[in-house]
Amino acid sequence: MKNESMSRRAFIKTTSAGAIAASQIIAPAYAFNLQGNTQSGKLAALGGKAIRSNKNWPEWPYRDQNVLDEIMKTTKSGIWCRIQSKTGTVPTFEKKYAEMIGVKRCVAVGSGTQALHTSVEALGLGPGDEIITSPYTDPGTIASILSARALPVLADLDRRSFQLDPDDVERRINENTKAIMPVHMMGQPAHMERFMQIAKKHKLLVIEDACQAHFAKYQGKTLGTIGDVGCFSHQSSKVLSCGEGGSIVGNDEELMEKCYTVQNHGTSKFGRTETIGPKYRMNEFEGAILLGQLPTVLERHALRNKNAKYLTSKIKDIPGIYPQKLYEGTEEGSFYLYCMSYDKKLYNGADRSKYFKALAAEGISLSPYIKNGLHKEPWVDNIINRKVYQKMYTPQRLEQFKEEMVCPNCDIVCDEEMVMLWASGPLLGTQEDMDDVINALTKVYENRDQLNKV
Ligand SMILES: *Cc1c(COP(=O)(O)O)cnc(C)c1O
Repeated sequence: MKNESMSRRAFIKTTSAGAIAASQIIAPAYAFNLQGNTQSGKLAALGGKAIRSNKNWPEWPYRDQNVLDEIMKTTKSGIWCRIQSKTGTVPTFEKKYAEMIGVKRCVAVGSGTQALHTSVEALGLGPGDEIITSPYTDPGTIASILSARALPVLADLDRRSFQLDPDDVERRINENTKAIMPVHMMGQPAHMERFMQIAKKHKLLVIEDACQAHFAKYQGKTLGTIGDVGCFSHQSSKVLSCGEGGSIVGNDEELMEKCYTVQNHGTSKFGRTETIGPKYRMNEFEGAILLGQLPTVLERHALRNKNAKYLTSKIKDIPGIYPQKLYEGTEEGSFYLYCMSYDKKLYNGADRSKYFKALAAEGISLSPYIKNGLHKEPWVDNIINRKVYQKMYTPQRLEQFKEEMVCPNCDIVCDEEMVMLWASGPLLGTQEDMDDVINALTKVYENRDQLNKV
């Protein structure tokens, strides 16, 4: 890695300023140097000229006239709740989204968390059951399990893919384990091939937390369609958003009908109140906002993939900053986030906070993303002291549950390595925007000897 990049740098350095046109092809990452900025040798954080200034990223959440028209239509129609009409925005969204994803059924609900909780209930999981999932995720992932009073067991990550490690999942399976909830972090596929094998071997259900992963593709399949059920979030920041919203997709008609019943306060489409269920129905305004985006959402998906591919093709040559590892069979990501690992050993030992500070001064704001893995949050002590958990799980199991809440890879990702570019909006930018990111990362690498002074 190092030698390769050194020779590339040496090559670029010998390229004359006259080669500006060629620089677009050879190394747009170095366009900055070739444009003759004499201060390129000084980090903006120490008074040098910033790579990017006075430019905006594309606005997010996405909205256009079509979205506004759909909202207005819904307002005027007086159909504001899905049960008022079989052809309202929510039933129509469900039909169209199922078609786009390539499944038989979709049930829309009020959030990704609600989608996951509805799935857990519909699959009959509850007190006494254990579900294995990731500590590196949105709190909604485990909230869905806790709301059903089941036990979320957290397994460690693969440090470079940020996804649940299948080997660690398998180690944590016991006689009470009923399901695995793989999370497709950043909208990239988790190792589904392994998870499906493990599930088959141990007779477990698979709930895909695809809340970040709309339209991503893996081994010819769309994420969310591989396990027993798949869940999406349509919260504001996500790539298909309506403020707060969620959806469940699947091919098992009976299970999907159960999902409908659960999210409709336990009441089936025939009006019989049959089971335990909260009221999680998506409202028609949320449906309208989603419907308004569907005609163009795949264009944005394609653009994000194109920009991400370009970023990765350049960033892979910058030492000490590694684009997210992808599993074999990854075809398209949703690029809700674009994530990398930072290796401070290649940056004079400078902590990630200095790296962020230097990049922010260059006009590129990156984030450490999730502060703590969920294994380090107070819910662990909270539930083991609760009567309902003490009734349903033995004292030995609860003790072991707490002791085994150890995920060292997750810790290092959170504490030192994660470098995240929020991507829903920014990856809809131009190639020039992408070059700003690449140039800033390159400049900070080249001037890493200054990082400890930042
Ligand atoms: C956003 C998200 C959720 C929760 O979705 P909400 O719509 O915010 O409830 C769950 N899991 C993951 C991985 C998410 O990113």
